[in-house]
Amino acid sequence: MKKVICLLLAAVLPAVFISSCKAKQKKYSATKIMMTTVVTVTLYGGSEEILEGAIGLCESYEKLFSRTVPSSDISNINKSGGAATAVSPDTAGLINKGLEISLKSGGAFDITVLPLSLLWDVQHSAAPPDDASVKDALKTVGFENVSVNGNEVTLKNDASIDLGGIAKGYIADKVAEYLRSEGVKSAVINLGGNVVVLGEKSGKPYTVGIQKPFAGQGEAMLTLALSDKTAVTSGIYERYFEYDGKIYHHIIDPATGKPSESDVASVTVICDSSCIADGLSTACLVLGMEKSAELLKSYGAEAVFINRNGEYSVTDGLTVDTTGTLPMIALK
Ligand code: AMP
Ligand code: MG
Repeated sequence: MKKVICLLLAAVLPAVFISSCKAKQKKYSATKIMMTTVVTVTLYGGSEEILEGAIGLCESYEKLFSRTVPSSDISNINKSGGAATAVSPDTAGLINKGLEISLKSGGAFDITVLPLSLLWDVQHSAAPPDDASVKDALKTVGFENVSVNGNEVTLKNDASIDLGGIAKGYIADKVAEYLRSEGVKSAVINLGGNVVVLGEKSGKPYTVGIQKPFAGQGEAMLTLALSDKTAVTSGIYERYFEYDGKIYHHIIDPATGKPSESDVASVTVICDSSCIADGLSTACLVLGMEKSAELLKSYGAEAVFINRNGEYSVTDGLTVDTTGTLPMIALK
Protein backbone atom coordinates (compact mmCIF):
# COMPACT_ATOMS: atom_id res chain seq x y z
CA MET A 1 0.00 0.00 0.00
CA LYS A 2 2.78 2.37 1.00
CA LYS A 3 4.51 1.76 -2.31
CA VAL A 4 1.36 2.55 -4.27
CA ILE A 5 0.93 5.86 -2.46
CA CYS A 6 4.58 6.81 -3.02
CA LEU A 7 4.28 6.08 -6.73
CA LEU A 8 1.09 8.09 -6.91
CA LEU A 9 2.73 11.04 -5.22
CA ALA A 10 5.68 10.91 -7.57
CA ALA A 11 3.37 10.89 -10.56
CA VAL A 12 0.99 13.62 -9.60
CA LEU A 13 2.61 16.12 -7.28
CA PRO A 14 1.41 19.65 -8.07
CA ALA A 15 3.21 21.80 -10.59
CA VAL A 16 2.69 24.94 -8.56
CA PHE A 17 3.62 25.16 -4.94
CA ILE A 18 3.39 27.76 -2.24
CA SER A 19 6.21 29.24 -0.25
CA SER A 20 5.95 28.73 3.46
CA CYS A 21 6.42 31.52 5.94
CA LYS A 22 5.06 32.29 9.35
CA ALA A 23 1.41 33.30 9.59
CA LYS A 24 -0.04 35.48 12.27
CA GLN A 25 -3.47 33.90 12.29
CA LYS A 26 -4.11 30.36 13.39
CA LYS A 27 -3.34 27.97 10.57
CA TYR A 28 -5.53 25.02 9.64
CA SER A 29 -4.24 22.75 6.90
CA ALA A 30 -5.20 19.40 5.42
CA THR A 31 -3.63 17.35 2.62
CA LYS A 32 -5.37 14.45 0.95
CA ILE A 33 -4.92 12.39 -2.18
CA MET A 34 -8.02 12.97 -4.27
CA MET A 35 -8.86 13.34 -7.95
CA THR A 36 -5.62 11.42 -8.70
CA THR A 37 -3.60 14.26 -7.25
CA VAL A 38 -2.53 15.91 -4.01
CA VAL A 39 -5.08 18.29 -2.56
CA THR A 40 -4.03 20.78 0.10
CA VAL A 41 -6.27 23.37 1.70
CA THR A 42 -4.70 25.84 4.13
CA LEU A 43 -6.65 28.44 6.06
CA TYR A 44 -5.25 31.35 8.05
CA GLY A 45 -8.13 31.92 10.41
CA GLY A 46 -11.38 29.96 10.32
CA SER A 47 -11.71 26.63 12.10
CA GLU A 48 -11.15 22.90 11.86
CA GLU A 49 -14.83 22.49 10.90
CA ILE A 50 -14.52 24.91 8.00
CA LEU A 51 -11.42 23.06 6.81
CA GLU A 52 -13.29 19.75 6.98
CA GLY A 53 -16.13 21.35 5.04
CA ALA A 54 -13.70 22.37 2.29
CA ILE A 55 -12.24 18.87 2.00
CA GLY A 56 -15.75 17.39 2.07
CA LEU A 57 -16.72 19.64 -0.81
CA CYS A 58 -13.80 18.32 -2.90
CA GLU A 59 -14.89 14.78 -2.14
CA SER A 60 -18.51 15.39 -3.18
CA TYR A 61 -17.49 17.05 -6.43
CA GLU A 62 -15.08 14.24 -7.21
CA LYS A 63 -18.00 11.82 -6.86
CA LEU A 64 -19.92 13.83 -9.46
CA PHE A 65 -17.18 14.54 -12.00
CA SER A 66 -14.78 11.59 -11.91
CA ARG A 67 -14.95 9.32 -14.94
CA THR A 68 -13.61 6.45 -12.83
CA VAL A 69 -16.21 6.62 -10.05
CA PRO A 70 -18.90 4.23 -11.39
CA SER A 71 -21.85 6.22 -10.01
CA SER A 72 -20.62 9.67 -11.09
CA ASP A 73 -22.56 11.87 -13.50
CA ILE A 74 -19.73 11.47 -16.01
CA SER A 75 -19.79 7.66 -15.77
CA ASN A 76 -23.57 7.74 -16.23
CA ILE A 77 -23.22 9.88 -19.35
CA ASN A 78 -20.42 7.70 -20.74
CA LYS A 79 -22.43 4.50 -20.34
CA SER A 80 -25.71 6.00 -21.60
CA GLY A 81 -25.27 4.65 -25.12
CA GLY A 82 -26.38 8.00 -26.50
CA ALA A 83 -29.52 8.40 -24.37
CA ALA A 84 -30.18 11.76 -22.71
CA THR A 85 -28.77 11.58 -19.17
CA ALA A 86 -29.98 13.71 -16.28
CA VAL A 87 -27.10 15.22 -14.33
CA SER A 88 -26.65 17.72 -11.51
CA PRO A 89 -26.72 21.42 -12.39
CA ASP A 90 -23.01 21.55 -11.45
CA THR A 91 -22.12 18.88 -14.02
CA ALA A 92 -24.27 20.48 -16.73
CA GLY A 93 -22.71 23.89 -15.97
CA LEU A 94 -19.18 22.50 -16.05
CA ILE A 95 -19.75 20.65 -19.33
CA ASN A 96 -21.14 23.87 -20.81
CA LYS A 97 -18.00 25.74 -19.69
CA GLY A 98 -15.85 23.00 -21.25
CA LEU A 99 -17.78 23.27 -24.51
CA GLU A 100 -17.41 27.05 -24.50
CA ILE A 101 -13.61 26.76 -24.15
CA SER A 102 -13.58 24.06 -26.85
CA LEU A 103 -15.36 26.40 -29.21
CA LYS A 104 -13.24 29.43 -28.37
CA SER A 105 -10.00 27.47 -28.64
CA GLY A 106 -10.94 26.11 -32.05
CA GLY A 107 -11.07 22.58 -30.62
CA ALA A 108 -7.62 22.61 -28.96
CA PHE A 109 -9.48 21.99 -25.71
CA ASP A 110 -11.86 19.07 -26.08
CA ILE A 111 -13.65 17.19 -23.30
CA THR A 112 -14.04 14.15 -25.60
CA VAL A 113 -10.34 13.24 -25.97
CA LEU A 114 -10.81 10.32 -23.57
CA PRO A 115 -10.34 7.48 -26.14
CA LEU A 116 -7.00 9.06 -27.06
CA SER A 117 -5.92 9.52 -23.44
CA LEU A 118 -6.73 5.84 -22.82
CA LEU A 119 -4.88 4.78 -25.96
CA TRP A 120 -1.73 6.76 -25.11
CA ASP A 121 -1.98 5.88 -21.39
CA VAL A 122 1.23 7.83 -20.79
CA GLN A 123 1.59 6.74 -17.18
CA HIS A 124 1.95 3.08 -18.15
CA SER A 125 3.08 3.03 -21.79
CA ALA A 126 6.66 2.61 -22.93
CA ALA A 127 6.08 3.27 -26.65
CA PRO A 128 3.59 5.22 -28.78
CA PRO A 129 0.59 3.40 -30.26
CA ASP A 130 0.54 2.79 -34.03
CA ASP A 131 -1.01 5.38 -36.34
CA ALA A 132 -3.97 3.15 -37.25
CA SER A 133 -5.01 2.95 -33.58
CA VAL A 134 -4.73 6.73 -33.24
CA LYS A 135 -6.86 7.20 -36.36
CA ASP A 136 -9.42 4.78 -34.99
CA ALA A 137 -9.59 6.49 -31.57
CA LEU A 138 -9.98 9.88 -33.26
CA LYS A 139 -13.26 8.77 -34.88
CA THR A 140 -15.31 9.38 -31.75
CA VAL A 141 -13.49 12.53 -30.64
CA GLY A 142 -15.17 15.89 -31.18
CA PHE A 143 -16.86 18.25 -28.74
CA GLU A 144 -19.71 18.73 -31.25
CA ASN A 145 -20.79 15.22 -30.19
CA VAL A 146 -21.87 16.59 -26.80
CA SER A 147 -25.11 18.48 -26.29
CA VAL A 148 -26.51 19.92 -23.08
CA ASN A 149 -30.18 20.69 -22.74
CA GLY A 150 -30.94 22.08 -19.30
CA ASN A 151 -29.67 19.38 -16.95
CA GLU A 152 -29.64 16.64 -19.58
CA VAL A 153 -26.53 15.64 -21.48
CA THR A 154 -26.57 13.63 -24.71
CA LEU A 155 -23.63 12.10 -26.55
CA LYS A 156 -23.58 11.01 -30.15
CA ASN A 157 -21.14 9.13 -32.33
CA ASP A 158 -20.01 6.92 -29.39
CA ALA A 159 -18.23 9.89 -27.80
CA SER A 160 -17.17 9.87 -24.15
CA ILE A 161 -16.39 12.65 -21.71
CA ASP A 162 -13.43 13.33 -19.42
CA LEU A 163 -13.40 16.58 -17.43
CA GLY A 164 -9.79 16.06 -16.24
CA GLY A 165 -8.68 19.25 -18.00
CA ILE A 166 -11.14 21.54 -16.24
CA ALA A 167 -12.83 19.94 -13.20
CA LYS A 168 -10.14 20.74 -10.62
CA GLY A 169 -10.43 24.42 -11.47
CA TYR A 170 -14.19 24.33 -11.05
CA ILE A 171 -13.87 22.58 -7.69
CA ALA A 172 -11.21 25.05 -6.53
CA ASP A 173 -13.61 27.91 -7.35
CA LYS A 174 -16.37 26.21 -5.36
CA VAL A 175 -14.09 25.71 -2.35
CA ALA A 176 -13.05 29.38 -2.52
CA GLU A 177 -16.71 30.43 -2.67
CA TYR A 178 -17.48 28.25 0.36
CA LEU A 179 -14.54 29.61 2.37
CA ARG A 180 -15.52 33.20 1.60
CA SER A 181 -19.11 32.46 2.67
CA GLU A 182 -17.71 31.14 5.96
CA GLY A 183 -15.84 34.41 6.51
CA VAL A 184 -12.34 33.09 5.77
CA LYS A 185 -10.19 35.99 4.61
CA SER A 186 -6.88 34.29 3.89
CA ALA A 187 -6.40 30.81 2.44
CA VAL A 188 -4.67 28.73 -0.21
CA ILE A 189 -6.47 25.98 -2.11
CA ASN A 190 -4.12 23.79 -4.08
CA LEU A 191 -5.70 20.98 -6.09
CA GLY A 192 -2.68 19.42 -7.73
CA GLY A 193 -1.36 22.68 -9.14
CA ASN A 194 -4.72 24.41 -9.50
CA VAL A 195 -4.08 27.15 -6.98
CA VAL A 196 -6.55 29.69 -5.66
CA VAL A 197 -5.41 32.21 -3.07
CA LEU A 198 -7.88 34.09 -0.93
CA GLY A 199 -6.73 37.48 0.24
CA GLU A 200 -3.15 38.03 1.33
CA LYS A 201 -0.82 36.61 3.92
CA SER A 202 0.31 38.96 6.70
CA GLY A 203 -0.57 41.92 4.46
CA LYS A 204 1.47 40.73 1.50
CA PRO A 205 0.54 38.77 -1.64
CA TYR A 206 1.11 35.05 -1.50
CA THR A 207 4.19 33.74 -3.27
CA VAL A 208 3.47 30.87 -5.63
CA GLY A 209 6.34 28.97 -7.19
CA ILE A 210 6.24 27.88 -10.83
CA GLN A 211 7.91 24.52 -11.28
CA LYS A 212 11.03 24.27 -13.43
CA PRO A 213 10.03 21.75 -16.13
CA PHE A 214 11.69 18.33 -15.72
CA ALA A 215 13.58 19.45 -12.58
CA GLY A 216 13.07 17.87 -9.18
CA GLN A 217 9.59 18.28 -7.74
CA GLY A 218 9.34 21.57 -5.88
CA GLU A 219 12.21 23.23 -7.71
CA ALA A 220 10.90 26.63 -8.71
CA MET A 221 12.08 28.45 -11.80
CA LEU A 222 9.89 31.51 -11.30
CA THR A 223 7.72 32.97 -8.57
CA LEU A 224 4.32 34.61 -8.78
CA ALA A 225 2.95 37.23 -6.40
CA LEU A 226 -0.74 36.55 -6.06
CA SER A 227 -3.68 37.80 -4.04
CA ASP A 228 -7.34 36.92 -4.59
CA LYS A 229 -6.52 35.18 -7.86
CA THR A 230 -5.97 31.77 -9.30
CA ALA A 231 -2.93 30.33 -11.06
CA VAL A 232 -3.22 27.06 -12.95
CA THR A 233 -0.35 25.25 -14.61
CA SER A 234 -0.36 22.63 -17.35
CA GLY A 235 2.97 21.06 -18.21
CA ILE A 236 4.35 18.38 -20.47
CA TYR A 237 6.61 17.17 -17.63
CA GLU A 238 3.70 16.27 -15.33
CA ARG A 239 2.88 12.86 -16.81
CA TYR A 240 4.86 11.46 -19.69
CA PHE A 241 7.03 8.72 -21.09
CA GLU A 242 10.07 9.09 -23.29
CA TYR A 243 10.58 7.05 -26.44
CA ASP A 244 13.38 7.45 -28.96
CA GLY A 245 14.43 10.74 -27.38
CA LYS A 246 10.92 12.22 -27.60
CA ILE A 247 8.51 13.19 -24.82
CA TYR A 248 4.97 11.77 -25.02
CA HIS A 249 2.87 13.54 -22.40
CA HIS A 250 -0.73 13.60 -21.18
CA ILE A 251 -2.13 16.58 -23.10
CA ILE A 252 -3.50 15.51 -26.43
CA ASP A 253 -3.79 17.65 -29.52
CA PRO A 254 -7.26 16.70 -30.81
CA ALA A 255 -6.18 17.75 -34.32
CA THR A 256 -3.56 15.00 -34.54
CA GLY A 257 -4.65 12.52 -31.85
CA LYS A 258 -1.12 12.73 -30.42
CA PRO A 259 0.45 14.50 -27.43
CA SER A 260 0.78 18.18 -28.25
CA GLU A 261 4.00 19.10 -30.02
CA SER A 262 3.64 22.85 -29.48
CA ASP A 263 6.54 24.99 -28.28
CA VAL A 264 5.09 25.14 -24.74
CA ALA A 265 6.63 23.02 -21.96
CA SER A 266 4.52 24.67 -19.30
CA VAL A 267 1.91 27.38 -19.13
CA THR A 268 0.52 29.01 -16.01
CA VAL A 269 -2.72 30.92 -16.50
CA ILE A 270 -3.68 33.66 -14.05
CA CYS A 271 -7.20 35.05 -13.78
CA ASP A 272 -10.21 35.26 -11.44
CA SER A 273 -11.83 31.93 -12.30
CA SER A 274 -9.90 28.74 -11.66
CA CYS A 275 -12.28 26.80 -13.90
CA ILE A 276 -11.47 29.09 -16.82
CA ALA A 277 -7.75 29.10 -15.97
CA ASP A 278 -7.77 25.29 -15.91
CA GLY A 279 -9.44 24.96 -19.30
CA LEU A 280 -7.23 27.68 -20.75
CA SER A 281 -3.96 26.21 -19.49
CA THR A 282 -4.73 22.90 -21.19
CA ALA A 283 -5.86 24.70 -24.36
CA CYS A 284 -2.78 26.98 -24.47
CA LEU A 285 -0.44 24.05 -24.10
CA VAL A 286 -1.96 22.59 -27.26
CA LEU A 287 -2.21 25.89 -29.14
CA GLY A 288 1.34 27.05 -28.50
CA MET A 289 2.43 30.47 -27.36
CA GLU A 290 1.50 32.58 -30.37
CA LYS A 291 -1.97 31.20 -30.99
CA SER A 292 -2.84 31.38 -27.28
CA ALA A 293 -2.72 35.19 -27.14
CA GLU A 294 -6.17 35.82 -28.57
CA LEU A 295 -7.84 33.13 -26.47
CA LEU A 296 -6.27 34.44 -23.26
CA LYS A 297 -7.30 37.99 -24.14
CA SER A 298 -10.89 36.95 -24.76
CA TYR A 299 -11.07 35.80 -21.12
CA GLY A 300 -9.02 38.68 -19.68
CA ALA A 301 -6.46 36.11 -18.55
CA GLU A 302 -2.68 36.43 -18.26
CA ALA A 303 -0.11 33.68 -18.67
CA VAL A 304 3.47 32.68 -18.00
CA PHE A 305 4.92 30.39 -20.65
CA ILE A 306 8.04 28.27 -20.40
CA ASN A 307 9.09 26.96 -23.79
CA ARG A 308 10.80 23.68 -24.60
CA ASN A 309 14.21 25.37 -24.36
CA GLY A 310 13.45 26.40 -20.79
CA GLU A 311 12.97 30.12 -21.61
CA TYR A 312 10.08 31.99 -20.04
CA SER A 313 7.84 34.76 -21.35
CA VAL A 314 4.82 36.55 -19.95
CA THR A 315 1.72 38.22 -21.41
CA ASP A 316 1.28 41.99 -21.47
CA GLY A 317 -0.61 42.32 -18.17
CA LEU A 318 2.29 40.91 -16.12
CA THR A 319 5.53 42.46 -14.88
CA VAL A 320 8.75 40.69 -14.02
CA ASP A 321 11.14 41.74 -11.26
CA THR A 322 14.52 40.12 -11.83
CA THR A 323 16.35 41.60 -8.84
CA GLY A 324 15.79 38.61 -6.53
CA THR A 325 17.15 35.06 -6.65
CA LEU A 326 14.29 34.00 -8.90
CA PRO A 327 12.31 36.24 -11.25
CA MET A 328 9.16 37.45 -9.46
CA ILE A 329 6.10 37.87 -11.68
CA ALA A 330 3.13 40.01 -10.69
CA LEU A 331 0.03 41.51 -12.26
CA LYS A 332 0.60 45.08 -13.45
P1 AMP B 1 -4.46 19.71 -17.28
O1 AMP B 1 -3.45 19.10 -16.37
O2 AMP B 1 -5.47 20.57 -16.63
O3 AMP B 1 -3.84 20.37 -18.46
O4 AMP B 1 -5.35 18.52 -17.84
C1 AMP B 1 -4.82 17.40 -18.44
C2 AMP B 1 -5.89 16.35 -18.50
O5 AMP B 1 -6.94 16.80 -19.35
C3 AMP B 1 -5.40 15.07 -19.10
O6 AMP B 1 -4.90 14.20 -18.11
C4 AMP B 1 -6.65 14.52 -19.78
O7 AMP B 1 -7.49 13.92 -18.81
C5 AMP B 1 -7.35 15.78 -20.24
N1 AMP B 1 -6.94 16.24 -21.58
C6 AMP B 1 -5.85 15.88 -22.32
N2 AMP B 1 -5.82 16.56 -23.48
C7 AMP B 1 -6.90 17.39 -23.46
C8 AMP B 1 -7.42 18.34 -24.38
N3 AMP B 1 -6.83 18.62 -25.54
N4 AMP B 1 -8.56 19.00 -24.03
C9 AMP B 1 -9.18 18.75 -22.87
N5 AMP B 1 -8.74 17.85 -21.97
C10 AMP B 1 -7.62 17.19 -22.26
MG1 MG C 1 -6.45 22.26 -17.35
